[in-house]
Parts: sequence; C-alpha cells; structure tokens
Amino acid sequence: MILELREEHLRAIRESGERSYPYECCGLLLGRTIAGGKVLVEVWETENAWDGESARSFVSDSDTSNDFTQERRYTIAPETMFAAQRSARERQLDIIGIYHSHPNHPAVPSECDRLWAWQQYSYIIASVRNGKTIDIRSWQLDGDRQFQPEELRICG
Ligand SMILES: [Zn+2]
Repeated sequence: MILELREEHLRAIRESGERSYPYECCGLLLGRTIAGGKVLVEVWETENAWDGESARSFVSDSDTSNDFTQERRYTIAPETMFAAQRSARERQLDIIGIYHSHPNHPAVPSECDRLWAWQQYSYIIASVRNGKTIDIRSWQLDGDRQFQPEELRICG
C-alpha cells in the first residue's frame, strides 16, 4: 500500500514532533482511501492526552513504571476523535491514520503501538533525536496484525 502526501504534511509532522520533544506528539491523518492506498489531505495535530488515568485503565500490571509517561506513550481523547471525524465527514474525508513521535527511539512501532492499532489505519512515526526529527516512516498492519512498512509518496 502507498500513502500519498505533500511536503507540507511531512513538515507539519516533523515540527509537531520537535515541539513536543522530549514527549511524544500525536495527531490524526485525514484523507481518502483510493485503489492501492490512501491520500493524505490534512494533518490534524492533537493534544497528547496520555496521563496517569489513561495509564491505569489501559496498561497491564506487567508494564514497567517508566512506560507510564508521555515520553513513551500517547493517546487521543475520544472527543478529539469525534471532532476530527465530524470535520472530515463535512469534507467527504475520513480519518485514515494516526501519527506520533518516538523521542530518542527509532521510527518503528512498539509492541504497545501494535496492540492498540486499527487494522485499516496508516501509522506514521517520527523519530526525534535530541529535539530534531531524523526519520519519518509509515506502517500498516497486515492480516496477521503485524506492522509492515508503507511507502510514503510525496506528490505535488
Ligand atoms: Zn509509538
């Protein structure tokens, strides 16, 4: 599968990751599904709503305590999802994926990312090292719920 996007979308994700550093940024990807992939229309930056409350409801006891912070996790509030969904629908768009950053970690999905991933979404991850975005990659789950790389194609 291919995710088509414009240079300005990459810039928005890059800057979002750098602004949030050393915490994870996150946001929604609005666009369309087409034959063979998706077209990104808008990057919708959201607040990282991850906090202790989220930690208690989402994380199993086996997780280590340093995974409970925004340096390692992100979550998007349900009301933010609804607002983005409504805005997308009004323009005949859909939420086609989610982006987030990995401060001082590679642009590769974590096991937690995999467990919470939606089958049809694209997952763009920005690796931010020492405050600078050094890598941006996209991933999508396959039929066995394993992440496979997705090609990012810059258009326009
Ligand atoms: Zn992640």
